[in-house]
Amino acid sequence: MPVRIIESTASAYRYPLLVKNILITPLIYSPDQEIVYSDKTRYSYRTLVQRIGRLANALEKLGVDQGDTVAVMDWDSHRYLECFFAVPMMGAVLHTVNIRLSKEQLIYTINHAKDDIILVNADFIPLLESVKDRFQTVKKIILLKDHDQPPDTPLQLDGEYEEILAESDTEYDFSDFDENTMATTFYTTGTTGLPKGVYFSHRQLVLHTYATIAALCVHNLHATVTPKDVYMPLTPMFHVHAWGIPYVMTLMGTKQVYPGRYEPEKLLRLIEKERVTFSHCVPTILFMLLSNPVVKHVDLSGWKVVIGGAALSKQLCKAGCELGINVYAAYGLSETCPVLTVANLKSHMLNWDLDRQLDFRCRTGLPISDVQMKIVDVNGASLPHDGRSVGEILVRTPWLTQGYVNDPQRAEELWQGGWLHTGDMGFIDPEGYLKITDRLKDIIKTGGEWISSLQLEDIITQHEAVSEAAVIGVLDEKWGERPLAVVVLKKEFAEKITEDDIRAFFMKFVKKGAIPKYGVPERVVFTDAIPKTSVGKIDKKTIRQQYA
Ligand code: AMP
Repeated sequence: MPVRIIESTASAYRYPLLVKNILITPLIYSPDQEIVYSDKTRYSYRTLVQRIGRLANALEKLGVDQGDTVAVMDWDSHRYLECFFAVPMMGAVLHTVNIRLSKEQLIYTINHAKDDIILVNADFIPLLESVKDRFQTVKKIILLKDHDQPPDTPLQLDGEYEEILAESDTEYDFSDFDENTMATTFYTTGTTGLPKGVYFSHRQLVLHTYATIAALCVHNLHATVTPKDVYMPLTPMFHVHAWGIPYVMTLMGTKQVYPGRYEPEKLLRLIEKERVTFSHCVPTILFMLLSNPVVKHVDLSGWKVVIGGAALSKQLCKAGCELGINVYAAYGLSETCPVLTVANLKSHMLNWDLDRQLDFRCRTGLPISDVQMKIVDVNGASLPHDGRSVGEILVRTPWLTQGYVNDPQRAEELWQGGWLHTGDMGFIDPEGYLKITDRLKDIIKTGGEWISSLQLEDIITQHEAVSEAAVIGVLDEKWGERPLAVVVLKKEFAEKITEDDIRAFFMKFVKKGAIPKYGVPERVVFTDAIPKTSVGKIDKKTIRQQYA
């Protein structure tokens, strides 16, 4: 018997899942709740919705039509939040441009995404000027500014954001359309080749929002997020829509604080002033904040911080928790919208002491609703969830990019066999927690055995003298590859620690059976700084180039 598809009477309405629906609930529950932009602007959700209407009218007057692509280059701001809604709600596509790309990558992404119009913060005008003669599709440029001073630029500007909003009506008739309409696109700079464009539909963003709410507010027993929280993203809005959390927080009607440019001292002051209680970031940002002298004068207790984008080390998690910050991990990719797992503690773990909890706070987490996940060996066979068997992580959820923009070959590689291949290695333990052990291409193969670079980094950073570390595999005639550690020492330990000290520290873990002897790095290089990617992650590609 085939399944029975439901019948719809002729007049029944097939309600599409659209981004505009996210705005309905907060207007009912909390129309006066605040949206704050750094120390510059604050207004209510009521005003947010009016400004979204104004922006849509303004963009329409500028010629933006359904299917067009609107690019944004801005710091994290209330304007960006307005674009998150107005652009997709019109049926256009929002391209969140990575402002930290090189000039060549920037123009590649602008042309590849076929941007029609660019909304650009005055701070990025010089960057845009440098590629202006190479635009293929850009017709208009709108200025976003935080200061009165107009920029001195040869670029032809077609308006200023606040002026075009002021001249436009607050009412806009956002029509319904197919929920599979493209809402957003952005580019991920992999370790090889040209940037890849991923894209998400309205339906995907809405479903991702619902599932993430369940993960943060229902299943998150140790750090439940509620509408009383105060949210501030510390993941740039260009990077996977700040993990989609602005949509989540808007639906919940929470107070939202957008910090502008990330400057550690300013961020810490803003957290204190606006009483921020919930954020998310890559480990580097939390590390940067905790290393700032101002941290001693700011009460961060009660701040919930989700760490993702790279592995959360026990040392960083512990340092945060000891200051009263509720630190835990989550995992996802640009290709996955992004949230796949969150390191929620189960009820029987809530009374554990911090040391025992650390393991689970730093695990990569439990799959959120509607995420199917499996670990497979090189032949694609599923591995048991025994906390030991390591393989590639494959996923299915309703919110995965269905391809790469104009790149069918890499899209098919991503989706081989109907599962999205994350390129990450890991295991799942009997409790259901995923642990990422490495990127497939970062794993070190020595003497035919695999060793996780993330595990070695986690060990080194537990050394009291180490502030940051990265481990890569370098070619070795005898063993194939050997681990090499690049280490930044804390200032007070500079030149007091040797390679042998680090290796002796590793030997303690060898004795405990935590790692095999061949995991002890062959070489330890001390340096002042570890190269980072445009989104603040350890840049192993550059490190490999430097030390290979
Ligand atoms: P991106 O597409 O730039 O967001 O990078 C996604 C990659 O970041 C993943 O494939 C992982 O390798 C890494 N990643 C994300 N979250 C975590 C995490 N919690 N622990 C370890 N690696 C992570």
